[in-house]
Amino acid sequence: MNISGRTTLVGVLGYPAGRSLSPQMHNAAIEHLGLDWCYLPFSVAPENLEQALRALPALGIVGVNVTIPLKERALRAMDEVVPPANLVAAVNTVHCRDGKLIGYNTDVEGFTRSLTERGEDLSGCTALVLGAGGAARAAVVALAQMGAARVWVAARRRAQGARTAELARQAAPGAQGAAIVWEDAALRSAVAAADAVVNATPIGMHPDVDAPAPIPEDWLRRGMLVYDMIYTPAVTRLLAAARERGCRPVGGLRMLVLQGAAAFTAWTGRAAPDEVMERALRQALEG
Ligand code: NAP
Repeated sequence: MNISGRTTLVGVLGYPAGRSLSPQMHNAAIEHLGLDWCYLPFSVAPENLEQALRALPALGIVGVNVTIPLKERALRAMDEVVPPANLVAAVNTVHCRDGKLIGYNTDVEGFTRSLTERGEDLSGCTALVLGAGGAARAAVVALAQMGAARVWVAARRRAQGARTAELARQAAPGAQGAAIVWEDAALRSAVAAADAVVNATPIGMHPDVDAPAPIPEDWLRRGMLVYDMIYTPAVTRLLAAARERGCRPVGGLRMLVLQGAAAFTAWTGRAAPDEVMERALRQALEG
């Protein structure tokens, strides 16, 4: 990589940023397209986030991704917020335009495209989302916008579950949202009535790969969509069980690629080479 005074800079703000795989993914896309760009990681403590974001236009940085734990805080520092980032209440991509900070949430697009490109049609379905944090909020908005009729949110904290479920109606007035208590009987009947289950908790994520799946494996039914937003490991216990039982399993890796691809396009105005990005991401994960 030949960095000069003319090189356009983009990057990721996280805390710590060292664990992010976005530099590998974006720099592979940059190299593939032969752009004089460079994608850098920046570790920014939460209390310094606003200062760091405000400095981006002054430094000539064109845009950044924002990752854990800064996505919610970043929203407050934006000059403009592009829907649905306002609904999700989190910004994962910032574009600096004319000195202004424009905030996007490309997790919703990443989740949606990871399903539509497989030909999944969720219109009229009942979807159960496990967890009520940032990833769950993106999933609820995406599911409602994809035409799900009912989006249920199972959460340990009832108020958080209700707030996240409420996003379904806000995202698509025809969609109903409801909170489900995180206990066996309620979860079991929700799974029995659902066409799709989305794990938006970290249960089963590396290094806890042998932890029991978030729902008992024998609750899964042939034909149901089972989406695990976790991408390390690529095949979680939940996905392995879904595969064994004849469900439609979908892992989180493709969503990660496609949220990055959407950010790349927002900054560069170019179609993102998502297959190149996915290959780089898989290599980084294997490493
Ligand atoms: P988060 O904001 O911390 O939310 C996690 C949610 O899971 C919370 O509602 C939490 O409930 C719940 N939870 C955690 N442990 C639980 C348990 N043992 N039992 C029941 N509920 C539990 O995290 P996040 O940012 O939403 O991320 C969630 C997962 O999605 C992570 O694995 C992350 O890697 C993945 N993710 C993937 C992508 C992608 O592109 N594929 C994008 C974003 C996130 P409490 O509040 O009660 O703890």
